[in-house]
Amino acid sequence: MFDLHGRSAVVTGGARGIGAAIARSLADAGAGVVVADILDHDGKETADAIGRNGRYAHLDVTRETEWREVIGIAEDSFGPLAVLVNNAGILDYGAIESEPPAMFRHVLEVDLVGAWLGMHTAAPVLRAAGGGVIVNISSTAGLTGYAGIGAYVASKWGLRGLTKTAALELGAAGIRVCSVHPGPIHTPMTAGMDASVAAAQPLPRFGEPEEVAAMVRFLVTEASFSTGSEFVLDGGATAGQVLALPTS
Ligand code: NAP
Repeated sequence: MFDLHGRSAVVTGGARGIGAAIARSLADAGAGVVVADILDHDGKETADAIGRNGRYAHLDVTRETEWREVIGIAEDSFGPLAVLVNNAGILDYGAIESEPPAMFRHVLEVDLVGAWLGMHTAAPVLRAAGGGVIVNISSTAGLTGYAGIGAYVASKWGLRGLTKTAALELGAAGIRVCSVHPGPIHTPMTAGMDASVAAAQPLPRFGEPEEVAAMVRFLVTEASFSTGSEFVLDGGATAGQVLALPTS
């Protein structure tokens, strides 16, 4: 088991939703956790609720200088960096024919370039600390296509590919890198979605942020022989199709 006591973790988009659940879970496992987000008010509340193992820091994942500052805050507050969770993400709707190019670029900038900047900045620090774990929160949108959210799909497929490349580049330094692929989860991001989104799944419900956090905690603390792999929590949504078989 990877002992997180005396070591630090950074969770992006940690103010609310899945990121907040991950931050709480890693703090319970002993890490000092920096809740990093652009939502300062919610982020402070989440970090305060964690207590002495939590601290808020402002981070826009698209800004390289802020990345360096946040990792410095994590190490100064809690000890050597052990974990980075690239969780921050945005979802925008737009078909390929109608989406403004600036919107497509913006989603890629946050969801893909932001995570790349995180790995780019954290990897040398993890290497110097003797190893660690990076978990990238992708989506089932990184496993299949979805009409109307092409930028999000492109970002999440990209993040899945970057995860594998990072695993290849960083394994010898003792750094594991995995991607997590949730289906619909109850968070502010999905607040406007209809329950029918999950109706055809073998488990016909939305997941909870704590279920994603449990997977991330397992990957960080227990999955010592896993790297470059996808871990799916989608109620079976991507398992396949139920065929209407001929009756005679
Ligand atoms: P959420 O509730 O919207 O939380 C995401 C957090 O990231 C928010 O606090 C958001 O702030 C923050 N954020 C946005 N842009 C940022 C930036 N540039 N820098 C730093 N933080 C930023 O979303 P969630 O549902 O918990 O999603 C978390 C991750 O899981 C995302 O990567 C998402 O794509 C992925 N995911 C979610 C689901 C789902 O069903 N919920 C399914 C699959 C994958 P703002 O509110 O200001 O944007």
